[in-house]
Amino acid sequence: MTDLELLIDLFIDGDRQGPGSEAQTRRAIDLAGLSHARGLRIADLGCGTGAAALVLARALDADVVAVDRLGAFLKRVAARAEQEGLGHRITIRQGSIDALPFGPNSIDVLWSEGAIYNIGFEAGVAQWRQYLRPGGMLAVSDLTWLTDERPEELDAYWRSQYPEVATASTKISILERHGYSPVGYFALPEDCWLASYYRPMQQRFDGFLQRHGNSDAARALVAAETAEIERYERHGQFFSYGFYVARKSA
Ligand code: SAH
Repeated sequence: MTDLELLIDLFIDGDRQGPGSEAQTRRAIDLAGLSHARGLRIADLGCGTGAAALVLARALDADVVAVDRLGAFLKRVAARAEQEGLGHRITIRQGSIDALPFGPNSIDVLWSEGAIYNIGFEAGVAQWRQYLRPGGMLAVSDLTWLTDERPEELDAYWRSQYPEVATASTKISILERHGYSPVGYFALPEDCWLASYYRPMQQRFDGFLQRHGNSDAARALVAAETAEIERYERHGQFFSYGFYVARKSA
């Protein structure tokens, strides 16, 4: 089994593949002022197994296109949508978030939770802007420093993993520089990391290791995730995902 197949196997049964929660997705929906809009066309970029896409389809009068590079995750999105009677509202599209299949000015809302880091925050917001209609909304979550200072070791670690980790003010100025008017920002609270993401993952560890006969690769993946969880438990007051909502300026 390849490392990617292992990763898929560990993550596919999760409600979500990154920090977040239904409550915080709804908070961003409120911030974006979408609740009374009709007939929205929304794209969920890097949708995973559909955590955000399902909330958006449930909460709004919208058609949601859910995009991910992994077909196995997209099958889950489709199955979950069917199960909830939302099959007609959610379309799956396999592909890369840096080569999207949308026309210019064709999307009302671009949504992306915990995925833009794969192409980089600045490159992502710059590239995605063309697909939004003027006045359309971007809602994106990304790794963010919560304080101006932090332990040196933590700073070095995250900068090595994700050079674009920054404070909210830096990310907001990137949005301004690339033709967006910021509407709001909030940081995901602790339950988005622990209760919604890490605790359920930890409960899957034993079954996962058993399924893979305790292979070196499976144990290495569990060890890496465990180290990440411990890092959050130790230093979670210094970083989170920031949720940024911004309007495409004319
Ligand atoms: N938004 C989901 C998943 C976050 S995990 C949630 O919040 O639960 C990041 C997702 O981005 C994964 O599903 C991964 O397959 C996808 N991804 C990573 N790089 C990608 C790329 N270049 N194009 C499309 N999807 C990508």
